[in-house]
Amino acid sequence: MYGLKLDWMETPEKPYYTLEDYTGPEGRWCPGCGDFAVLAAAQRLCRDEQLAPEKTVFVSGIGCSSRFPHYMKTYGFHGLHGRALPVACGIRARRPDLNVFVATGDGDCCSIGTAHWIHAIRYNMKMVVMMFDNNVYGLTKNQTSPTSNVGLRTYTHPRGNVVSPLDPLQVTLGVAGASFVAQTVDFNPPHLLATLTAAFHHPGFAFIRILQRCPHYTAKIFDPLQQDPSQMALLTHPDGIDGGEGLSRVFPNRVEHDPSDIRQARALVDGERGVPVGLLYRNPDLPRYDEASAAGLAATRADRENLLEDQFDWFSI
Ligand code: SF4
Ligand code: MG
Repeated sequence: MYGLKLDWMETPEKPYYTLEDYTGPEGRWCPGCGDFAVLAAAQRLCRDEQLAPEKTVFVSGIGCSSRFPHYMKTYGFHGLHGRALPVACGIRARRPDLNVFVATGDGDCCSIGTAHWIHAIRYNMKMVVMMFDNNVYGLTKNQTSPTSNVGLRTYTHPRGNVVSPLDPLQVTLGVAGASFVAQTVDFNPPHLLATLTAAFHHPGFAFIRILQRCPHYTAKIFDPLQQDPSQMALLTHPDGIDGGEGLSRVFPNRVEHDPSDIRQARALVDGERGVPVGLLYRNPDLPRYDEASAAGLAATRADRENLLEDQFDWFSI
């Protein structure tokens, strides 16, 4: 092999991951479902951040969007209805070396999973929570969900929903320990990806409400926003989400918002200036329960046995 340069053939120590390394089987959602856009954004985020697939886990509960882990070629846990967050917290507590993502829907998170949601916000463990909000239970075929608007006709309320919807952003902002709250839309891929990226880099519990199109059951609910983007308010700030220059053409209505200002965040969620899109609140300095619970994780078997013996001695008489 005289004169042949072979060093380029060496296997690099750190592999470069391509989109294929995160792409699982084709998603079995309805054609046009917004979940496809979120899946594509999550795969791009993993590629852009070069997350090792074996160090990445997507956790979900039950619902259309909760099929998400099946379509990622990473680890995944498709759990029980409403229980995505306790599973994710458990993973985070024992395996702080993993990148933890949660896929949950408005039914999964805001109804049966509400108690877990509230306490997961309080724990502020590092993870990215993607809350797909299509205002309906899709998997169980068109039932009123906690975020369904008054008047929405569903199979459970054929004459129209009569109960005011819960606002997932307002609830999250209202819980002590909320440290990252953002809203994005599945129909703007650059903003969606920029939001996921900002959430991934947040040192704590990052909650993203994604306004998600469900062409099968709530086909028209986001039409007004798509047809008239001035009904949305793009939140801008040097500490906010940077979705690139092109966004200013798509969102003519822009509102300067400092994401450290929780009072203004709450006012914006009330829709004073339009449907807010962007980073509402961020506090990177709040305590994290996963850091506290990680104490002792590196203990050896001998350390643990000694600790147990000490405890037994404590109770001896
Ligand atoms: Fe998507 Fe709606 Fe179909 Fe579920 S029912 S897969 S949310 S379009
Ligand atoms: Mg839903």
